[in-house]
Amino acid sequence: AAKDAGKGVVQVYRASMHESVLQRLIMDAELRLAIDEQQFSVHYQPIISLISGQLRGFEALLRWQHPVRGDIPPSSFIPLAESSGLIVPLGGWVLREACSQAARWRRLFPPTRSLTMSVNLSVRQIQEPTLVATVLEALTDAGLEPGDLQLEITESTLDQRNLILGVLHELHDKGIKLAIDDFGTGYSSLSRLHTLPVDRVKIDRSFIELLAGSNPAPLVAATVAMAHSLGMQTTAEGIESADQLPMLRMYGCDDGQGYYLGRPMSAEAATALIHTQLRRESADSWPPAAR
Ligand code: C2E
Ligand code: MG
Ligand code: MG
Ligand code: MG
Repeated sequence: AAKDAGKGVVQVYRASMHESVLQRLIMDAELRLAIDEQQFSVHYQPIISLISGQLRGFEALLRWQHPVRGDIPPSSFIPLAESSGLIVPLGGWVLREACSQAARWRRLFPPTRSLTMSVNLSVRQIQEPTLVATVLEALTDAGLEPGDLQLEITESTLDQRNLILGVLHELHDKGIKLAIDDFGTGYSSLSRLHTLPVDRVKIDRSFIELLAGSNPAPLVAATVAMAHSLGMQTTAEGIESADQLPMLRMYGCDDGQGYYLGRPMSAEAATALIHTQLRRESADSWPPAAR
């Protein structure tokens, strides 16, 4: 069929390939420029205890506000930053930014209400020999304790486990919390969980989606049970509606994250949310009022 399609199609195909390579080069150059011109910011998404309704902390999520293209989602620039290696300085910046924000909140709110700051790590960062030093320096500079920080590693990263298991043990031994992100989407099965130095399993949104309309999701139940039997906590990702909560609570899932509980927001909006949450918690109203 390709033969019949004629010369013109081949040329168009080549032209579009060329364009995509060119686009990658442009995007890469723009990424470098964006770092210099401070087009990046960090947004914060709340993580809520499904048991008490208390605010447990935030996940730091990188945002790129391009002056012409507008907001570019992480799904389109993180892979590029990973392949060019730019994720190393960029991820280091996110880490320092998130740690200093967490320290600001620590000073602003009562020390008894400790909030955990979660930061995503890419495999490229973990492969850097300086990673542990970089993390410890970010904590020290901000004045945070290791236990205030949680690092999230996607399940697919763990496929190169020989490379990174030592680093994970080192971070864990320092008291930094570790979470497996997007659990259920990679190769690491429930049975391999016990070999990993992790404190928390974040169950991927695709499994939490199944609970919409209060449908059961046996895999979610099994993951929570297995994680608990190994002394790990669980977070449900991508909770979008109230009808997903009863099943999650029945399964004993510890914490939740999702648009229904709160969208990623600016540091200012997150500060306001902490004020509101602390008031709500003291009024002891859970589940949250319908919105
Ligand atoms: P993630 O770490 O699994 O983060 C959760 C993603 O789910 C975020 O997408 C968040 O906005 C989105 N989300 C949260 N609640 C809901 C919901 O109820 N419904 C839906 N549909 N989505 C929800 P975001 O911010 O676009 O980030 C996408 C991914 O990019 C992240 O997935 C993470 O893997 C990566 N990423 C983001 N920031 C960083 C970073 O600073 N460093 C690295 N290495 N990766 C990052
Ligand atoms: Mg994450
Ligand atoms: Mg995730
Ligand atoms: Mg995800």
